Amino acid sequence: MARLAQTPGLTDVQRSILETVREFADKEIIPHAQRLEHADEYPADIVDGMREMGLFGLTIAEEYGGLGESLLTYALVVEELSRGWMSISGIANTHFIVAYLVSQHGTAEQKASLLPRMATGEVRGAFSMSEPGCGSDVAAIRSKAARDGADFVLHGQKMWLTNGAYSSVVATLVKTETGAESVYRNMTAFLLEKEPGFGETAPGLTIPGKIEKMGYKGVETTEMVLDGVRAPLSTVLGGEAGVGHGFYQMMDGIEVGRVNVAARACGIAVRAFELAVAYAQQRQTFGAPLSGHQAIAFKLAEMGTKIEAAHALMVNAARLKDSGARNDVEAGMAKLLASEYCAEVVQEAFRIHGGYGYSKEYEIERLMREAPFLLIGEGTSEIQKTIISRGLLKEYRS
Ligand SMILES: Cc1cc2nc3c(=O)[nH]c(=O)nc-3n(C[C@H](O)[C@H](O)[C@H](O)COP(=O)(O)OP(=O)(O)OC[C@H]3O[C@@H](n4cnc5c(N)ncnc54)[C@H](O)[C@@H]3O)c2cc1C
Repeated sequence: MARLAQTPGLTDVQRSILETVREFADKEIIPHAQRLEHADEYPADIVDGMREMGLFGLTIAEEYGGLGESLLTYALVVEELSRGWMSISGIANTHFIVAYLVSQHGTAEQKASLLPRMATGEVRGAFSMSEPGCGSDVAAIRSKAARDGADFVLHGQKMWLTNGAYSSVVATLVKTETGAESVYRNMTAFLLEKEPGFGETAPGLTIPGKIEKMGYKGVETTEMVLDGVRAPLSTVLGGEAGVGHGFYQMMDGIEVGRVNVAARACGIAVRAFELAVAYAQQRQTFGAPLSGHQAIAFKLAEMGTKIEAAHALMVNAARLKDSGARNDVEAGMAKLLASEYCAEVVQEAFRIHGGYGYSKEYEIERLMREAPFLLIGEGTSEIQKTIISRGLLKEYRS
């Protein structure tokens, strides 16, 4: 019973993966999500299940032990996982971006060393651009790497690392004075390996405690302090050729990340709709089920329509990237529309629940705290509009 968010043209393999993940979400995620989220508990059993299904290697090439699936498959898997619980897709997402970065921009040695371990989920990835003083404005990054003989030495403070503690490789963007005129060519991405956990997890690299959040619990979000971290050239993403190219590499990663956030938004909106449409048929007011009142039925119609539009845009952006084309504008559009619609759909589902929506016993309470994150993560709506308008103005220059 899933009329909404269908995707035409999938292969048998894609359909089979999605069925498996949907069943996993129904049986292993949804029944536990409320308890784990309220306790802010790391979902270790669910992560083990994801590992067993091979989800950490979903997009990693088969030669490195992965399943070699497309961005579209990944996005549709994320949609299913988020329908279960957004935090689960958060655990997969930074890992996926880092695996993508290594696959696209890594040296042969980096691929051989990291990808097989990432495919099994033994090594999981975090992605670090943001700092206490900047998020949208990536050029304002202050953390620095200075050359010291054959190595670099890193100093600075990073903020908001999703999977900051349980990951063991962090793709980290810092300034490197390459002498280039543009600030964007003075940035380098490092693949910093560390032990999972809190405290000093590698010499000079400290993960303080996790940041307390209003939602998106269970998955940890942390700071990262770099105090004289010694990083050989072999840890620069792409080696010597990657020095000064970190900004562009990370933006490439963010483009796939944006499709992922759009997919998450679709998954949450689908779940909110499912909850609302069920409740609207159970709850009676004025002698009729809520769904018998046109005002509520129309809300359901609008919610369903928004889900269809968001899903279509998300699939379009994923397919474009899979074709090898740049998808900055389309990924921006998908992320913008899906996250804004998700917030609206969740809000309407909450209203349909009346007072019960405010009770922690109802799933919609959790979705209400999760949806706002999607308006911010991987670039806020204002930043998406900046990217979209810049792309369109370039295309339609008069
Ligand atoms: C739970 C969580 C997890 C996160 N995980 C990660 C992660 O794993 N890795 C990572 O690197 N980062 C992560 N982030 C950081 C996230 O990417 C940033 O919060 C986001 O990019 C916004 O940056 P900011 O918070 O510094 O807001 P700011 O950049 O300070 O923006 C504040 C407000 O001003 C608006 N604004 C800013 N500039 C402009 C402009 N030029 N025009 C119009 N409006 C503007 C923004 O849209 C926003 O509304 C995470 C954040 C959260 C909350």
